[in-house]
Amino acid sequence: MMLDTATLRVALAVVDLTLLLLFYFITFRRTRSAYSGWWCLALLLFLAGNAAYLLDGTPHQIWSNPLGNVLLVAGAAGIWAGARSLRTTVPRLWYLAAGPAVTGVASMLDQPATNVWSGGPAYLGFMCLLIGLGCRELFLLDRQFSRVHLTLAVGSGVLAAFYLGRFAAFVLDGPDGAVFQTLFGSVPMTICSAVIMVVASFTMAELSYEQQTQDLRARATVDGLTGLLNRTAFLDLAENELRRLNRARTSASLILADLDHFKGINDEYGHSAGDTALQAFADACTSTVRSTDLVGRYGGEEFIMLLPGVTPERAGEIAADISARLQASTSAVIPRLPTSSYGIANTAPGRVDLDALIAAADAALYRAKTLGRNRSVLAGSVEAGPA
Ligand code: GH3
Ligand code: MG
Ligand code: MG
Repeated sequence: MMLDTATLRVALAVVDLTLLLLFYFITFRRTRSAYSGWWCLALLLFLAGNAAYLLDGTPHQIWSNPLGNVLLVAGAAGIWAGARSLRTTVPRLWYLAAGPAVTGVASMLDQPATNVWSGGPAYLGFMCLLIGLGCRELFLLDRQFSRVHLTLAVGSGVLAAFYLGRFAAFVLDGPDGAVFQTLFGSVPMTICSAVIMVVASFTMAELSYEQQTQDLRARATVDGLTGLLNRTAFLDLAENELRRLNRARTSASLILADLDHFKGINDEYGHSAGDTALQAFADACTSTVRSTDLVGRYGGEEFIMLLPGVTPERAGEIAADISARLQASTSAVIPRLPTSSYGIANTAPGRVDLDALIAAADAALYRAKTLGRNRSVLAGSVEAGPA
């Protein structure tokens, strides 16, 4: 059975348009992620490019074939930009525009009125290069990044290899050669494009939802102002950590910190200066403790830290370091940073529950406040709580 190219191109355009509409309305409008935006743009450019090719064989091919080449190469540049946006910044505009521009010039200079493959090597070469670059970006992503990006990487790799084959056959065998016509001509290419577009769109949609879920999860666990764990997330993680420490019969210290006369900071310098002070305190905490310690925002101007394997004396030194670091930090927004009081409680190795530990640290913090603030007070070590 002979499949005619024009009919296949119309079918491809219908598939492309359907995917574009579904992807735009169902995925992009919901997630607004950069790469789904780039994929929408790529689908649009592929659609427009294939529509331009429909004029192939008519007197309009003098402009429509070069235009089709430019649009398809621009679509491939969109794939590269989208893949790269998952990992780092999007390439500069002129990097993205270089391929389409060179393809356009090469196509225009290659007798487009009579040569249906005008600019063929430039077009095929840039398709291979840009899709290959997109594939590289996907492979460079961390394996844990998502469950589906490797599928996309393999899909784009297959497509880049296909274009490489087309490019090689075109250069070595010519567009009328048997190899190019049978394996890499318009008919196999159109079918291959349709399959890859469907696979890529579904995988992209899956990737978008996965990212959105991760984002929501992160927002549910992170305090928006300071970037520390929020109270619920801290308590969950600390609960697990204490269980692990109890099993390993390792002690831990818990520090509860409360900024002194913080209301006065807000009153004197304004609420946004107060916010800056909270962020500075959070930064002082995270840059003082180890990355494996848990640090959370417990309430308005109260912070909580769980330091596994740390003695209460060492916790007192850590608290002093945090205060020193806070005072050393400078900010244009706030001329004076507040001091802080700390209550420190320590678990003796054994079964200790988090509530008991926090209650002990809270009582110690209260004493630090009544003793004049800007100090830390150690609670007695907290012995076995309820199992
Ligand atoms: P003390 O030394 O006894 O702890 O006095 P304090 O003024 O720090 O304590 P108080 O509980 O009276 O006031 C806490 C203040 O913290 C009141 C509240 O407006 C402020 N606050 C709570 N959350 C935020 C926030 O997210 N941003 C800002 N700027 N202020 C906050
Ligand atoms: Mg308070
Ligand atoms: Mg306070």
